[in-house]
Amino acid sequence: MSNLVPITVAPGDGIGPEITEATLRVLRAAGALIAPETISVGEAQYLAGHSSGIAPESWDSLRRTRVLLKGPITTPQGGGFKSLNVTIRKTLGLYANVRPCVTYHPFVKTLHPAMDLVIVRENEEDLYAGIEHRQTDQVYQCLKLVTRPGCEKIIRYAFEYAVKNARRKVTCMTKDNIMKMTDGLFHKVFDEISKEYPQIEVEHMIIDIGAARLATRPERFDVIVTLNLYGDIISDIAAEITGSVGLAPSANIGDRIAMFEAIHGSAPDIAGKGIANPSGLLLAAVMMLIHIGQSDVAEKVHNAWLRTIEDGIITADLRGSLSVGRPFGSMDFADAVIDRLGQEPSQLKPVHYIEPEQTALDASAATNASAHAPLPDPVSVKALVGVDVFVNARQSADFLAGQLSALVTPAFHLQMITNRGVKVWPGGFPETFCTDHWRCRFVAANGASVTHFDLIELMQALAQRGIDFIKTENLCTFDGERGYALGQGQ
Ligand code: NAD
Repeated sequence: MSNLVPITVAPGDGIGPEITEATLRVLRAAGALIAPETISVGEAQYLAGHSSGIAPESWDSLRRTRVLLKGPITTPQGGGFKSLNVTIRKTLGLYANVRPCVTYHPFVKTLHPAMDLVIVRENEEDLYAGIEHRQTDQVYQCLKLVTRPGCEKIIRYAFEYAVKNARRKVTCMTKDNIMKMTDGLFHKVFDEISKEYPQIEVEHMIIDIGAARLATRPERFDVIVTLNLYGDIISDIAAEITGSVGLAPSANIGDRIAMFEAIHGSAPDIAGKGIANPSGLLLAAVMMLIHIGQSDVAEKVHNAWLRTIEDGIITADLRGSLSVGRPFGSMDFADAVIDRLGQEPSQLKPVHYIEPEQTALDASAATNASAHAPLPDPVSVKALVGVDVFVNARQSADFLAGQLSALVTPAFHLQMITNRGVKVWPGGFPETFCTDHWRCRFVAANGASVTHFDLIELMQALAQRGIDFIKTENLCTFDGERGYALGQGQ
């Protein structure tokens, strides 16, 4: 049986094929035991009518190899095309986006010589659930979904990453001063899981100050774990301040499948010129080699790459850091790395990767059966205590309250009305700006609980009065604890 590990390779668009060729050339020379299977993704697939940028049969290769090395793709302009990255991440459950951001001072110019951090971004949830609706003439909604299993997986991943990579600190970033339930859950789970890792220093920062500190004092961070949208933004800030967008790799990790890519796009402005920097994809390939249990080859490639940078061999995107000579083309750069295989850098810190006892591929094979395992029994006692009815109306809050209070619904009592979350009835402020979108909170008239039949009766009463309800959200308690936020000003 061959000892080559099959991997799927998608060269992508623009500079993708050039940097993929350069990367594979280095991997082959370094003795990587891989058997690449090439698939086509991106522009050609979009234009062939596959709205996600990937042909249906290519999923078979991904399922078989469970590893994808992907070049950047060009998303065609215009509507109807879905992001290939989001599709791959969500379809294959790639829950962790791992992005190391390192500076290579003094060989690559940067304002932050001592920066060496890793951002672990939750990759599937949050506002990226893609659940959006237009609800009224004036109001659009995007649902932010955060789940306990999602938080547990990503936070545990961040701590495990810290332990395996000899990192000392994990910083959690959220906005739980405002989003007390969703971001609050992320923070709570972080506090819970951190107790299992007493050897790791922990801290929490509100995302706004966290992002500001990251931009000005990145050296104070080690591993950062955060929700999807914040992670998306701060990982670009972090990559940008290292010196070049062409250097940074990223890994998208799931229980069964993983995808490795550079963070940059397809760079159509330099495509076909042979000058693109292959480093982002090459360093992504290093992460891939560790993932498939070839840490020795990963270490060899990474150290040779560091030595190459240290020897002043760089591509055109880094020409600002060049003191003498000319920038190298993509293939010449790859050959320079090959020439240095077996060498280590003398000024930059060499890397040392420890071979894991079990590779991620072995682990993923072991968990293969559990993709759709039955959900566990609920752990809390849930009680239905009311309902928020969202109403499209153009009249004032007082008028609406009058209409709603006149409904004959013995199970419910109208408690408040808010507009964009702010309480406007009873006792609103004349200064509060109101739109055509009202949240009307009905609570159990007996102060205890209601049934689903009571909800239906309420909806019928609303429909009979010609009230345009656009959606409802049940108000529940879990073990007696409120499972919904109060209105602002309530
Ligand atoms: P880009 O990253 O492609 O390019 C931004 C700038 O950086 C350009 O000047 C480019 O020449 C330069 N650059 C990028 N990578 C480089 C490299 N390896 N070597 C040297 N210079 C490099 O971003 P963009 O121009 O905003 O996007 C172009 C296309 O890429 C768009 O269609 C976009 O949707 C797509 N994109 C894809 C991915 C992905 O597939 N993961 C990510 C980002 C953007």
